[in-house]
Amino acid sequence: MSSILKGIAASNGIAIAKAYRLVEPDLSFDKKSVENAEEEVARFQAAISTSKSELEAIRDKAMVDLGEDKAQIFEAHLLVLSDPELLTPIEDKVKTENVNAEFALKETADMFVSMFESMDNEYMKERAADIRDVTKRVLSHLLGVQIANPSMVTEEVIVIAEDLTPSDTAQLNRQFVKGFTTDIGGRTSHSAIMARSMEIPAVVGTKSVTDSVENGDMIIVDGLNGEVHINPTPEVIEEYKREHARYEDQKAEWAKLVNEPTVSKDGQHVELAANIGTPKDLEGVKNNGGEGVGLYRTEFLYMGRDELPTEDEQYEAYKAVLEGMEDKPVVVRTLDIGGDKELPYLNLPKEMNPFLGYRAIRLCLDEQEIFRTQLRALLKASPYGNLKIMFPMISNLQEFREAKAILEEEKKKLQENGTNVADKIEVGIMVEIPSTAVMADVFAKEVDFFSIGTNDLIQYTMAADRMNERVSYLYQPYNPAILRLVKMVIDAAHNEGKWAGMCGEMAGDEIAVPILLGLGLDEFSMSATSILRARSQIHGLNQSDMKKLAEEVLQLDTNDEVIKAVEKAVSHS
Ligand code: PEP
Ligand code: MG
Repeated sequence: MSSILKGIAASNGIAIAKAYRLVEPDLSFDKKSVENAEEEVARFQAAISTSKSELEAIRDKAMVDLGEDKAQIFEAHLLVLSDPELLTPIEDKVKTENVNAEFALKETADMFVSMFESMDNEYMKERAADIRDVTKRVLSHLLGVQIANPSMVTEEVIVIAEDLTPSDTAQLNRQFVKGFTTDIGGRTSHSAIMARSMEIPAVVGTKSVTDSVENGDMIIVDGLNGEVHINPTPEVIEEYKREHARYEDQKAEWAKLVNEPTVSKDGQHVELAANIGTPKDLEGVKNNGGEGVGLYRTEFLYMGRDELPTEDEQYEAYKAVLEGMEDKPVVVRTLDIGGDKELPYLNLPKEMNPFLGYRAIRLCLDEQEIFRTQLRALLKASPYGNLKIMFPMISNLQEFREAKAILEEEKKKLQENGTNVADKIEVGIMVEIPSTAVMADVFAKEVDFFSIGTNDLIQYTMAADRMNERVSYLYQPYNPAILRLVKMVIDAAHNEGKWAGMCGEMAGDEIAVPILLGLGLDEFSMSATSILRARSQIHGLNQSDMKKLAEEVLQLDTNDEVIKAVEKAVSHS
């Protein structure tokens, strides 16, 4: 039976392939007594041996694809599977209590896990995590349930998941993962942002895709319209193949603009920059004609690993980006951890409202060594290009002053030691908290630039969690409340002779671009894959007309009225 699910179009394009479920398996079981303990022990040993061969294959593949560090994780799992201190008590339990292997395994493993976890020792805590992982694998074999091994995928698939963390997303193999779709998340959740930078079509927030899809079902991810087709008819597949070809043709048209400047019909130049997460994304920036990097989300350097990156590692990454961009502007945002971006190794307590919690600049001003290390790495890399430094989640002037003072201190220390640091490094802030937008005139006297982070600015202004698909209708970039804040920020910057950019997803949005051009935004920073479409759109607009449009929409009542006004103005432009 074919069916269609509606979700949120998170990353453009169309993908057609078989489903691959990346979900937690059901490993529940009952305690049972067994007649023949010897047979039960043999069943357990068979599960151990299958788990071992599976882990060996995963380890060998990880070694080739992901490097020794990641392969080491599986090596540690293999050691657990050969440890008599764990295995003997399980077998003894089966024999003496005549219980099923599942029960003996879980009871014994849980006992070790809680013992190791209660120790004040990082090494033992990691062993607890290894035992937990390995137990799942052996249980899955005892129960005959499949667990997902994404690194072992060897054919084209569409990944089906409840949610994908940014580090899950970063590990997807672009060669085989043609698209993904999730139950939860919104257009600005970080998995969606990553999908755009990886150019993988995605539909998020379907609410129920994991309930509706089995492994191997044929899936179409329509990232243009936010639809997921499950087991579509051959006619629908053909129709989508044609749609895919049309989209590719359109992209080929846009690609002709790769080396063109971004100028409106009446000659207004704006800068179209890219948002990146890692130095690897630079290729996409170049292929899509990015005129700079408007947002380098450095937190991805800290994620998907077990400890903080060293100053040297950071320096290498920042230098690579600065050199790669050849003197074009590169705005590096300092660590913005928190919200949906966790660093488990910092062992921070769970919070009720992580998006309103201890995160980004709040954490950096408190854990200063983390912050200072990053700033030193940035300062040392600064002579290699056109670096601008930006602080995230600034909510009041005091935070900006403190952060800037720490930067100045580190700069002075480096210079005193004879380290070469660029003379002029602009220092700006993200405007993503309403208090800062409202006070933009005051900030503008002290910062060198603003970059408006609408993903958060909209979430905080509308009080609507950007991860929660049930309130995603409140992600209203054209709501006059948002547009008025955006105008305040741009005007405040210009009154002080500073520049204003935008690095939230709104900067590349087709409805928003005409308004932002009219409001005088200087720099638009977006997923690299949106740049050429935005350039083509701006080539067709008169800034003077868009100024009038901006004045008009600021006086409208609702998001929908603004959409209509823009569509009308653009069709006459
Ligand atoms: C934003 O909030 O708009 C932004 C660009 O930052 P992030 O999406 O990383 O929170
Ligand atoms: Mg943000």
